[in-house]
Amino acid sequence: MRKQIVAGNWKMNNDLAMTESLITELKKHVKISDADMMIAPAFTNLWHAFEALRHSDIEVVAQNMHFAESGAYTGEISAGMLKSVGIQTVILGHSERRAYFNETDDLLAQKVNTALKNNMRVIFCFGEELADRKSNNHEMVVENQIKKALFHLNSDAFNSLILAYEPVWAIGTGETASPEQAQDMHAFIRETLANKYGQNLADSVSILYGGSVKPNNAREIFSKPDVDGGLIGGAALKAEDFMAIVNAF
Ligand code: 13P
Repeated sequence: MRKQIVAGNWKMNNDLAMTESLITELKKHVKISDADMMIAPAFTNLWHAFEALRHSDIEVVAQNMHFAESGAYTGEISAGMLKSVGIQTVILGHSERRAYFNETDDLLAQKVNTALKNNMRVIFCFGEELADRKSNNHEMVVENQIKKALFHLNSDAFNSLILAYEPVWAIGTGETASPEQAQDMHAFIRETLANKYGQNLADSVSILYGGSVKPNNAREIFSKPDVDGGLIGGAALKAEDFMAIVNAF
């Protein structure tokens, strides 16, 4: 059975002191669900977070990385650097990286390759914009994003991939996809995977939903058969809200 996962993407929030206190708060809350928990603090706080959560149920993951192994890329962070501070999983393809840092499908394919080559897991994000949904092109857009960044991979690579469908119009807007919209898209994503790699592989890949998931809507979204968890932004910044979402399973 595929894993249920709730991952908190902290984005560019929380300095070291705030990271310490949020982790302390998270540890006080009891997890009652079986879902795996992850948090993605800023690069500068990864080592501290990893140390603080070393023997806990919460995995610390990175929000991004560069495709090169090392070299003259001022300001960038490599897979090896992440691994050297204990990080095994990286978020790639977030819509904010695509929109504000011009990350293309081709670049993301390179980043995915580098992560996998370094034996890292990838939470690969994608999702349509509002105009795509209004023009009824959302499935085509998502299919293209997945194909261009992932379909050069062999089936074994999918053991190390988690997919995250995040419709851009639902991120940070307070507007969520309805549980039915999320389910329809997740089923479509699974079908896209099945057409290329077979049903067994498609059934084994965790597909998370992201976009304004809150304690009051998580349960209904997570109840859908093809939704295996969530990638949480704003609500991951409060320990109580994040744990309520984890416990919504
Ligand atoms: P919000 O939960 O704030 O909408 O953010 C979702 C997200 O972008 C997670 O990666």
